[in-house]
Amino acid sequence: MTAYAEFHRRSIQDRDGFWAEQAQLVDWKSAPTQVCDYSNPPFAKWFVGGTTNLCHNAVDRHLKDRAGQAALIAVSTETNTERVYTFAGLHAEVQRMAAVLKDLGVQKGDRVLIYMPMIAEAAFAMLACARIGAIHSVVFGGFASGSLASRIEDSEPKVIVSADAGSRGGKVVEYKPLLDEAISLSSHKPGAVLLADRKLAAMNIVAGRDHLWGALREKHLNTVVPCEWVESTHPSYTLYTSGTTGKPKGVQRDTGGYAVALAASMKHIYCGNAGETYFSTSDIGWVVGHSYIIYGPLIAGMATIMYEGLPTRPDGGIWWSLVEKYKVTVMFSAPTAVRVLKKQDPALLTKYDLSSLRALFLAGEPLDEPTAQWISGSLKKPIIDNYWQTETGWPILGIANGVEQKASKFGSPGVPMYGYNVMLMDDAGEELVGGDKKGVVMVEGPLPPGCMQTVWRDDDRFVKTYWQKLNGKYVYSTFDWGVRDADGYYFILGRTDDVINVAGHRLGTREIEEAISSHPNISEVAVVGVADNLKGQVAVAFAVVKDASVLVDDAAHAKLEAEVMKVVDNTIGAVGRPARVRFVAVLPKTRSGKLLRRAIQAVCEGRDPGDLTTMEDPAALQQIKDLTAA
Ligand code: AMP
Repeated sequence: MTAYAEFHRRSIQDRDGFWAEQAQLVDWKSAPTQVCDYSNPPFAKWFVGGTTNLCHNAVDRHLKDRAGQAALIAVSTETNTERVYTFAGLHAEVQRMAAVLKDLGVQKGDRVLIYMPMIAEAAFAMLACARIGAIHSVVFGGFASGSLASRIEDSEPKVIVSADAGSRGGKVVEYKPLLDEAISLSSHKPGAVLLADRKLAAMNIVAGRDHLWGALREKHLNTVVPCEWVESTHPSYTLYTSGTTGKPKGVQRDTGGYAVALAASMKHIYCGNAGETYFSTSDIGWVVGHSYIIYGPLIAGMATIMYEGLPTRPDGGIWWSLVEKYKVTVMFSAPTAVRVLKKQDPALLTKYDLSSLRALFLAGEPLDEPTAQWISGSLKKPIIDNYWQTETGWPILGIANGVEQKASKFGSPGVPMYGYNVMLMDDAGEELVGGDKKGVVMVEGPLPPGCMQTVWRDDDRFVKTYWQKLNGKYVYSTFDWGVRDADGYYFILGRTDDVINVAGHRLGTREIEEAISSHPNISEVAVVGVADNLKGQVAVAFAVVKDASVLVDDAAHAKLEAEVMKVVDNTIGAVGRPARVRFVAVLPKTRSGKLLRRAIQAVCEGRDPGDLTTMEDPAALQQIKDLTAA
């Protein structure tokens, strides 16, 4: 047995012994008395009896050895600023933020919603919440008021931390009006709103509710706020993610399990060492941002780069220039970003000294072979694909080079990571044995430390959505199709549900459909994900118009299409905007009225739509075919 195979075997067969060792990688105020309590499956409680704090592990514990070393490097090519915070500096800012949040009434267990651009204050806010035992809920800054409102409604934050604006490609994106609208749409109202004023846009301050971070910070320049020691199982955060229904789920994460999982992954998977620099190009609004911009690198004692801006501005060499300047050793990005960079001048890749970089990790969406080949050939560094989800918080499939150097295979994110007992299940709910068979990727419970504890305030939904019984045991569904080859490498073939992946951003087609349906002239709509060379997938909508008489000519079509896109922009945000909205007379459905999304998707991608014997009206699909071919 190879070293990694043995490592993985032990993580499953001697689960508690294995994770007790990993738990040594973090600080505990009081040591756990039980490694894993799985007495109430599928709920797993990790490191029961232990008390710890995420902020202590990410910041305070490094003060002893590296107070003066860089911890947070906030770079914005939008405002042309670079701010470097040492561990001591970060410690001071986080305490100031924690003191302000406390002044605003935040206590242990309260939720704080963070709706911010990629600025250092967002990191202060996350770490400050962790410090005082508050539960943060970061909402991606690209989401508009409708998506934000549903998250405010569900998480019921005591305080919302936000900013006047973000900026993208030189264009100011105002956050405050969207936030005000979201608060007015939500039946829950926060007690206070804390605003970072970047002076990018004027803000309409609501007296009594809105406060400026700059002014409140001044009052707490020297305030000491100790870490609140919390139970290992105390929720550290919720992060909303899309599924089959229109209502996003609040993925709830614990504290101790998450700290251990991240510390272990930094050692075994990312091979990042204290004193080095980690650069993840994601956004704090996504799970990668939580695990590998903020917590993972800091827990490992690394400096982390937070980047606001495009990968192509001022030119396509900007990320590589940061690798050179900050001697980045580990970099993490997404295939879409690499496809964008591939279109830039190849000379930009050789212009900078990239000798510090050991590996580039890519995740969030399938890594196609041409993209993998190009970046691997150009960078001449190992390119390592990771497969994971918001729900898991760290990789399910990957390559753990910290345990044993293992070759990657193009098109495969690798093998099951330690702690994950991965299997494939067929349509009949049976485990698939042997290689090269397609099934749903499942993980036998308990999920390892760091994975979701439950759906926020909805244990029932957690069990019903994700879990089923296989041979009497609970198994977790990833909702992804996969194939395993004879060497045990997995290949991911796409979602089994109505989730699509646009440029690494996970979106529920139902959410987009709900937004489109709110247009007064749309009676029905189907949104599908269609393969795209740059973004992996794009959303395409097929809508039935209530009053088709308005569609007199091409200009009228274009006008309505633009109107529908605007509705999506205003509700979800541009991230959910379909690439096209096509108007059809009727949608293809089965005789029992079920929408034939897979058939629509197949037709859009020029594939065979499969068995259509149950289809009500074949002309419906034909119209879509004609429109797509046109
Ligand atoms: P998210 O929760 O936003 O991270 O999205 C998770 C989903 O993205 C997974 O269920 C997969 O469908 C997809 N995904 C993530 N990483 C990969 C990968 N390396 N290869 C293929 N698909 C991926």
